[in-house]
Amino acid sequence: HQPMPLSPTRPATLPRMRGKKSRAPAIPPPEQNYGLAKVGRSAITTGMATFHHPRRKFHIPCKGRLILPTEEDEVYHWQSHNVKTAGVDDMVLLSRVTEDEIVSNLRKRYLDDQIFTYIGPVLVSVNPFKTMPYFTDKEIELYQGAASYENQPHIYALADNMYRNMLIDAENQCVIISGESGAGKTVAAKYIMNYIARVSGGGDRVRHLKDVILESNPLLEAFGNAKSVRNNNSSRFGKYVEIQFSTGGQPVGGKISNFLLEKSRVVMRSRQERSFHIFYQLCAGADSRMEEQLGLATPENYAYLSQSGTYTVEGTNDIQEFQETMKAMSVVGLSAQEQQNILQLVSAILHLGNISFAEDRSNFASVHDDRYLDFPAFLLEIDPVALKSKLTGRIFESHREKVNMTLNVEQACYSRDALAKGLYSRMFDFLVQFCINFVNEKLQQIFIELTLKAEQEEYVQEGIKWTPIDYFNNQIVCELIEGRRPPGVLAILDDVCATLHAVSEGADNDLKQKLCSGVGSHQHFESWKSGFTIHHYAGKVSYEVEGFCDRNRDIFFNDLIELMQNSKNSFVRGLFPEVLSANSKTRPTTAGSKIKSQANQLVEALMKCTPHYIRCIKPNETKRPHDWEEARVKHQVEYLGLKENIRVRRAGFAYRRPFEKFLKRYAIISKQTWPAWRGDPRAGIKIVMEAVNMDPAEYQLGKSKVFIKTPESLFLLEEMRERR
Ligand code: ATP
Ligand code: MG
Repeated sequence: HQPMPLSPTRPATLPRMRGKKSRAPAIPPPEQNYGLAKVGRSAITTGMATFHHPRRKFHIPCKGRLILPTEEDEVYHWQSHNVKTAGVDDMVLLSRVTEDEIVSNLRKRYLDDQIFTYIGPVLVSVNPFKTMPYFTDKEIELYQGAASYENQPHIYALADNMYRNMLIDAENQCVIISGESGAGKTVAAKYIMNYIARVSGGGDRVRHLKDVILESNPLLEAFGNAKSVRNNNSSRFGKYVEIQFSTGGQPVGGKISNFLLEKSRVVMRSRQERSFHIFYQLCAGADSRMEEQLGLATPENYAYLSQSGTYTVEGTNDIQEFQETMKAMSVVGLSAQEQQNILQLVSAILHLGNISFAEDRSNFASVHDDRYLDFPAFLLEIDPVALKSKLTGRIFESHREKVNMTLNVEQACYSRDALAKGLYSRMFDFLVQFCINFVNEKLQQIFIELTLKAEQEEYVQEGIKWTPIDYFNNQIVCELIEGRRPPGVLAILDDVCATLHAVSEGADNDLKQKLCSGVGSHQHFESWKSGFTIHHYAGKVSYEVEGFCDRNRDIFFNDLIELMQNSKNSFVRGLFPEVLSANSKTRPTTAGSKIKSQANQLVEALMKCTPHYIRCIKPNETKRPHDWEEARVKHQVEYLGLKENIRVRRAGFAYRRPFEKFLKRYAIISKQTWPAWRGDPRAGIKIVMEAVNMDPAEYQLGKSKVFIKTPESLFLLEEMRERR
């Protein structure tokens, strides 16, 4: 039997917990503003206080002494918590719902150091670019089991709500964190994981598991994050973390999946950007023994790193980070040997990059200086002669014969880079145990499906009176990308790739023409001279067609696989488990089809969960605190659909419960309905509502569910229930 920390009958939306922990009192201490629209001068010892909400009146039973603000005429902004701050903390309460009002509200709060704001249950988070003081143990304590109205909006409140929901409703929960590069998604995910690790119980085994989950962050960041122009610690892969809990609420397992690492970064990137952190960490942090063993020098010595001319990141100490990466490797359970193998591979990739090619008299590639082959071959534990021949030649198979083809310099460089990228991405996949624009488009679709669309459809189904809200449904963009009939961009891309064999020049042009004839008239598609533009929900993104087919085919020639399978190092061999068959007829998996199936798996997993949302906003491009670029924020507010979100929420109802569930919980409030109500459920619910003096405008009865407009009404029911 697992102890349940909470009463199992408490509903998911329950505002407040009465656990063993002492928390902020339900009634705030004196001298604090109640954040009410207007309150009179009064002091109440016990009984009922009537608060005036801008739109309605409601009552809260008081148990303690309540001192209300003394300024009789002062008009406060309505806040759902009890501390006065600029702006409204739940934008459902904005007096006018326009994009400008939303931006101005977020700005006021941001300049007041309040980075979190709600739209009902959705959390909006603005990157402060500085450490905020409210992530201490005190807050972890404060938000545990607290009602949202008791405290400032906070990511801990959302995390706590997820965790309680999971325990009470025994349903899977997920949180979808979206926003542009540098908006704070990675940081937000870390806060959530830390919070859950702190509040969930467990013994030594569980503690170990928590350490593994938490330490996977620095590990994967070392190998999967890099400095980009927009973010000094930009995640170059998509990540999906799953944590499994026991019925008692302790973490019992975890799973991390990654989505298409940007492996091209290993061999090239634009100036002012770096490759993955681990390369610089290793160069800076290795001790002298390791330096010697792995042939390490400063980053300028490696072509793959010197290529973009940026070696350091402001505010980052690669030596220190290296120690943390190594610690993380140990915590997640990589053996000393595996750690050695990984570092050896990282170094091998750097050395591979230094192999250069010269053109001989017949235009064929030859290795410029054979001595550069030795070290990478040594690190990969392969034969340098074999490495040389596989980089400069390739066996070409037609139906009948095998031809040994000599490559030109361009093709040889391509092979070398393909090997470096392949090694890195396979190592990365190994590390996570076990396309970013499109995946984001799918996540936005879930958001629409589950909040905007589902909410409105439910009103219709239940026969609830309300006015529909228009919103942009990005389904049409998803179809443009992944559609089968008519074929969308990915299907056309795969088709073009399938009909071509070797790396051929005409492919990209062919793709462009097929795209124009296939989806050229789509309203979210535009084509131009050397590429095309897709109008994603977040804005227009232009794609150059050059190299598109190559990247999609993501070819890793059998020659190179064979080369690696002949390594004396079992770790290296283990990264290439595929069985090579000559003349295999199966179409190789393309990058596009991988993204598509990964995104769909993700959606499928998420659809089984109760979703929570964090919408991250990046306030500026300078990465400086208190810097507010109005136009940029407005653009994000627009594409994140915050206005529509608020409108749906306002027109809608905060809480809904099936009749039976409602009666089961609240029948206790009235003598007429307690201990059991056998009559028409609607009549029973009406009796309960009347018993608490519920404002009739606050609720509607649908076909099978009660819809309650504001959280306060639910609190009222909860409070009355507790008093019985
Ligand atoms: P990408 O899509 O490029 O991975 P991201 O949304 O994950 O971007 P983060 O790496 O989370 O962005 O944030 C970028 C930087 O902004 C962080 O390294 C940190 O310096 C700062 N930052 C983000 N959120 C916070 C926060 N809550 N408090 C303080 N600083 C923050
Ligand atoms: Mg990130």
